[in-house]
Amino acid sequence: GLGSGRQHMVCKAVATSETSVGSAVTQSGVYYNMDSSTKTSRPRLVVLGSGWGAMSFIKGLPSNIRDMYELIVVSPRNYFLYTPLLPAVATGTMEERSIVEPVRNFIVGKGDFYEALCKDIDPVAKELVCCFPEDAGLDSACFKLSYDVLVMAVGSVNNTFGIKGVDQYCFYFKSIEDAGRLRARVSECFERAALPATPEEERKKLLTFVVVGGGPTGVEVAAELYDMIECDLAKLYPNIVKDVSIQVVELMDHVLSTYDRAISIYTAEQFKRAGIKLVLNSRVAAVEDGCVKVLNKANDVTEIKFGACVWATGIAMNPLIRQLQEKLPGQSHFRSVLTDECLRVKGSDGSIWALGDAATIDQPKALDYAEQLFDAADANKDGKLNLQELRQLLNDASKEFSHLEEHARYFDSQSGIRRFGSMLANSNAGASTQERQPLAPLLTNLDTEITLDQFHEVLGKIDKGLRALPATAQVANQQGKYLAKVFASTKITGSPDQDKAVAESVKPFRYFHKGSAAYVGSDKAVFDLPRIGPLTGTGAGFVWKSYETLSQFSFRNQCLVAADWLRTKIFGRDISRV
Ligand code: FAD
Repeated sequence: GLGSGRQHMVCKAVATSETSVGSAVTQSGVYYNMDSSTKTSRPRLVVLGSGWGAMSFIKGLPSNIRDMYELIVVSPRNYFLYTPLLPAVATGTMEERSIVEPVRNFIVGKGDFYEALCKDIDPVAKELVCCFPEDAGLDSACFKLSYDVLVMAVGSVNNTFGIKGVDQYCFYFKSIEDAGRLRARVSECFERAALPATPEEERKKLLTFVVVGGGPTGVEVAAELYDMIECDLAKLYPNIVKDVSIQVVELMDHVLSTYDRAISIYTAEQFKRAGIKLVLNSRVAAVEDGCVKVLNKANDVTEIKFGACVWATGIAMNPLIRQLQEKLPGQSHFRSVLTDECLRVKGSDGSIWALGDAATIDQPKALDYAEQLFDAADANKDGKLNLQELRQLLNDASKEFSHLEEHARYFDSQSGIRRFGSMLANSNAGASTQERQPLAPLLTNLDTEITLDQFHEVLGKIDKGLRALPATAQVANQQGKYLAKVFASTKITGSPDQDKAVAESVKPFRYFHKGSAAYVGSDKAVFDLPRIGPLTGTGAGFVWKSYETLSQFSFRNQCLVAADWLRTKIFGRDISRV
């Protein structure tokens, strides 16, 4: 049978024609139905995902949780990936195994795990269709799984913003496979460039590495590439290293635009010293085989030929979330599914909960502030903004919502308005292409001073972004811990009548912003800390490494990560393509 801990579970083949949910069909044309009528007396709690949100939830559940729920975790990956160190894996600073943790290590004794992708949700019948991942190379064995309570932590997907050629010619940077592919590609480019038969122009192209997106991920990928080339490849390929070029393409006029301005300036200087070229105020128009077409503010096109191009621009909505939204009332379309302040999905009668990149808390108070911003703008009849007033409003709002704090400083200057708009757009980066695209030219074309109308236009398109928490591991982690406490302290049944008392007693989730950090190369890092401000340099680099090491979920991985830093320092990186 399927699943060891469920004596009552039956597996029966059901013809696909009989199924009411989903379009998932196995190669053999049958579903295996894990029948809801055979459930145990405990509510069945199904968790979708094995990323930041899901793992901090599972880890936070007490060991006796089996007495309260029949817990089943479903994810197409049977491991957790520590994403902040993914750029280090792409260059061999870190080994893959050091930053992944087997899900089963955390689920054992608490429940069951099924390696499968959820393809469809029926929120009325409370049923899922799940299939073994197709890319695993085996028959995709699909089955139906009923639930009483569903916790969705399915994260987000890559966003190409509809730009031609991205999918085909760029390296995404989200999964462990992505990092492995980039590592192999860099090695391939160097070996190919080193051949005597490679002409100079081709060599230069092969040794040009383009990173699109100057946010923390893009900056860290560029920094790690620089470290690898400077510390290891320069010694191994002394004749061709002069032809290496790393370029970061960014829409704004500075990188790390959501960080303190001093950090952006520091990072730009650090990159300049390292010879990393910043292609600013530029957006990618199209990507072709080995060539990226970039448009500047004046709409002039530049072609950058590359050996590898990394796409690190933003995230979009997981297709499963989009499907769910269409089936629930009260869900609007933007980055993720809307929840209340306790992370219950709106319109699901309390049976579905969501967290992490896949969820957005509908915060009425934040909406109030957004409305006040509009009113403040309206009050100015001369058609210009009263920045002072807007700043004050944002400062007040930031007391309520710590993640808004960083927004306030964007009102320091007229030109800050543009950065503010773009930052909100970024925080709402998962909006559908149609929703987001009209923003790009608007933001690019804004001058140092904008009119009320323009400001309205910006806010009008992005006010929902105000409500969104940043899509970070920090948020997902805190939400996972919070939900674990909620589920462990009260039995959630997923039935609106029984959960009525629960609904009144659950305290809303409150996000505590600890700050942001990024690695910028040459053992240096930057920290943007609330109430402390920016920290930069080698000392910050040491703190960053220590923090990332100690933040691993298990002691085993803390040791592996620490050992990898040390190995890289002593022996350098292994650049072989095995
Ligand atoms: P994820 O961690 O993405 O997990 C989603 C899970 O759902 C995965 O296990 C996936 O396999 C599974 N899944 C997907 N679809 C389905 C489905 N249909 N059915 C079942 N399961 C499904 N944030 C920070 O705070 N600090 C950082 O330094 C940082 N660095 C980053 C570096 C990189 C390279 C990247 C890509 C992200 C980084 N982030 C960082 C962001 C952070 O990783 C995400 O915000 C975080 O992973 C979100 O957690 P989540 O649980 O919502 O989603």
